[in-house]
Amino acid sequence: MNKDRYFDKVLVANRGEIAIRVMRACREMGIETVAVYSEADANALHVKYADEAFLIGAAHPTKSYLNMDRILEVADMAGADAIHPGYGFLAEKAAFSGAVKKAGFTFIGPSEKTIAMMGSKIGSKQAMSDAGVPVLPWTRSTEHDEAKAFAESIGYPVIVKASAGGGGIGMTIVRSSAEMDEAIEKSMRTAASAFGDPTVFIEKYLENPRHIEVQVFADSKGDVVHMFERECSIQRRHQKLIEEAPCPIMTPELRERMTQSAITVAKTCNYENAGTVEFLYDNGNYYFMEMNTRLQVEHTVTELITGMDMVRMQIKVAAGEPLPYAQDQIICRGHAIECRVNAEDPMNNFAADAGKITRYRSPGGPGIRIDSCIHVGYAIPPLYDSMIAKLCARAMTREETIARMRRALMEYVILGVKTTLPLHYAIMNNPEFIAGNTHTHFLEEPEVKKH
Ligand code: ADP
Repeated sequence: MNKDRYFDKVLVANRGEIAIRVMRACREMGIETVAVYSEADANALHVKYADEAFLIGAAHPTKSYLNMDRILEVADMAGADAIHPGYGFLAEKAAFSGAVKKAGFTFIGPSEKTIAMMGSKIGSKQAMSDAGVPVLPWTRSTEHDEAKAFAESIGYPVIVKASAGGGGIGMTIVRSSAEMDEAIEKSMRTAASAFGDPTVFIEKYLENPRHIEVQVFADSKGDVVHMFERECSIQRRHQKLIEEAPCPIMTPELRERMTQSAITVAKTCNYENAGTVEFLYDNGNYYFMEMNTRLQVEHTVTELITGMDMVRMQIKVAAGEPLPYAQDQIICRGHAIECRVNAEDPMNNFAADAGKITRYRSPGGPGIRIDSCIHVGYAIPPLYDSMIAKLCARAMTREETIARMRRALMEYVILGVKTTLPLHYAIMNNPEFIAGNTHTHFLEEPEVKKH
């Protein structure tokens, strides 16, 4: 018997590169895999990669990848003993974690209670500020006079955010009291339609912060380690486009403080499995923003600097094993950068471009890693995430990593759809990026796109 076979069969409740990523770890561990797919994904790579695959419904996510009952039915039918949610879709739906457990399967992720607690930005901000983790000044009061008084006391600008928010949706910046009411209404409307929950709150808006996040890992016994930080400031529409590890401006003292705060966050919510604590950083200070209770897109850069397989770790911890590594065994070595290759036109406000891939050649050679779900003839379904590949480079220094990424971007050929590849090449040649001077509005600067 294979000693890594903690489960016999894992169902992956997701699609695209992340479904394949999870199945790869399972295969290395001798665990069988079950794919689920929608009518739009009949020819998708994750379906071919899995040992078994089941059609679960129509293309629209509510009819397939978000259909909990159908996914549980398939898990039962296939005889799976655990379910990995990937990211997106059901990954941060507290009820799914609960339903998986109730149906007798292991959920490879945190408990229903933890996901619910961290799914509310208001609830988690309150709990973490009570635990002594720094947060930006904020208020849950959205009544006009109180909201205005709050904004005046801390100074404009402020930002209205959805408590149930995700994917950068439902945020409105307020620069003066005249804009307040409309901003609150707008965020509430967007939040109600996107998340089914109109609750919003207001916090101080930082003009040009960095987004720095800490990877944490916890086991069922309550032990928590961190796996260093990731710098994720290069974003479009509040969504990440490039991530790197470690953060180029990190100092040992700042890292000590931020990682300890992240561990406090994980302990405060009885965290279990892989999670990410997100902070905004400004001028020497950092503030807890939220925790993502799942594996993230950018976990790959953490894997590249630590040499660890985080999905394997997730599976072990979910099976009730202790953390496989102690804190002093987790070492940051070298530097890694990830470029998200999206089927989008960077010169036209990142408009999605769902076409057919007519030519495809991926880069290779030293220090290059690709996680992708595309091939020649693949038609990108319009209803899902536009990310079609993640290109990662790793080398011993940041400078070498950028040079390696530039070289890989030159090798990468994707024809048939517009992609973010040319923009990534421009960024890798941008003097400010090379100097590590990035912030969350970096992509809005006109000179960035010149190459
Ligand atoms: P979501 O859950 O929708 O991703 P987050 O709270 O994680 O929302 O914020 C996403 C991004 O929005 C951040 O990385 C940052 O760029 C921007 N942002 C959020 N809150 C603030 C703030 N108070 N000041 C400045 N930028 C912010």
